[in-house]
Amino acid sequence: MDEVVTAARAVDWSRLGARGLCDACLGRLFGMLGHGYTNAARGAAIRAVVDVPTGVCWVCSTLTSRYDDLADLVVRKIEPWGADTFLIGSKIDPEVAAREESLWSELGLSAPEPLKAEVNREVGKRVEARTGKTPDLGRPDLVAIVDPAFDHVDVQVNPLYLGGRYRKLVRGVPQTRWPCKRCRGKGCARCGGTGKMYPTSVEEVIASELMRETGGTGHALHGMGREDVDARMLGRGRPFIVEIKEPRTRHVDLDAVVRRINASGVAEVDRLDPATGDDIVAIKEDRAAKTYRILVRCSPPVEEAKLKSTLPVLVAQPIAQRTPQRVVHRRADTTRHRRLLTAEVVRVEGDLAELRVTAEAGTYVKEWVHGDGGRTMPSLAERLGVRCEVLELDVLDVLDG
Ligand SMILES: [Zn+2]
Ligand SMILES: [Zn+2]
Repeated sequence: MDEVVTAARAVDWSRLGARGLCDACLGRLFGMLGHGYTNAARGAAIRAVVDVPTGVCWVCSTLTSRYDDLADLVVRKIEPWGADTFLIGSKIDPEVAAREESLWSELGLSAPEPLKAEVNREVGKRVEARTGKTPDLGRPDLVAIVDPAFDHVDVQVNPLYLGGRYRKLVRGVPQTRWPCKRCRGKGCARCGGTGKMYPTSVEEVIASELMRETGGTGHALHGMGREDVDARMLGRGRPFIVEIKEPRTRHVDLDAVVRRINASGVAEVDRLDPATGDDIVAIKEDRAAKTYRILVRCSPPVEEAKLKSTLPVLVAQPIAQRTPQRVVHRRADTTRHRRLLTAEVVRVEGDLAELRVTAEAGTYVKEWVHGDGGRTMPSLAERLGVRCEVLELDVLDVLDG
């Protein structure tokens, strides 16, 4: 505390005139000096050796005496949310902030602490003591913003993120909820009032169990890429993060949720592990190659030997793909270049051929098979000189790091 008192003695307090300061606002003028004390304790120590007017505080009026009440307000507002960690923020009246800043320059101070920092810390300490919840500056479960001027607290509840790998066991199911194109989700005759293009999705299968357990208000699914609606996702599955918005509780029996998801018959997950919002960025940036199983009908039929000699030629050759006709209405018409990493014939029966192909991220595999009217070059159809139709497509593996 010596450091604080020495600094206070060096100030010309006559410049304060008749303006009164409470202990906390006085101590906060030296708030960055002397660790382990409250600003009120700093202020009391300073007042013992220098003459500073008391009375109504010119900076904060009565704010620093109301931390208990503000903490009560926060505790009541965050009580419904089963959060383990929290962060306090505050809105300080700009006039109050301007008054304290003018003091800093008038008195020539070098180590003051802003009122906002004190409010956040002092209210936070009290909330921690009353609730047993832990302050967390990094990734709090919720943020409570205190507005002392109106005795108001805004609560922002951060989403619950869980990650794993999903398998999609059936065709005709999109990865994410797909709003009806006609009504955009409101419900109409085309979608039978559901507001959706498809009755369910991988997202809904996974999120619905979590929504019931957590009482969340909404959900999103972030996948490492996505398979076509008519393609299954098999093998080890595709990495994903599911996001549950505004959960009432974060304490969920995840093993039980996994078991119920896996009983859906539509999608399966290997596990649900705690994740963060940053993990979504990593998943979205991943450029994993994928291995596919493709069932192709060739007309006229092609000899197995010809297929087996043609596929190696196509591997490692740059494929130029203009945006496919099936998606060009919603994506820019550009040309991308991709490569196949492996391609092999699994079996040939009559006009049917089953292939196993590993392609770089972002390859339009169906178009590589049928050629998309010449928009993809080279293609299997073009090299074989026959018509090729994709009957089934499954993703067998996502080859992420
Ligand atoms: Zn004050
Ligand atoms: Zn509709």
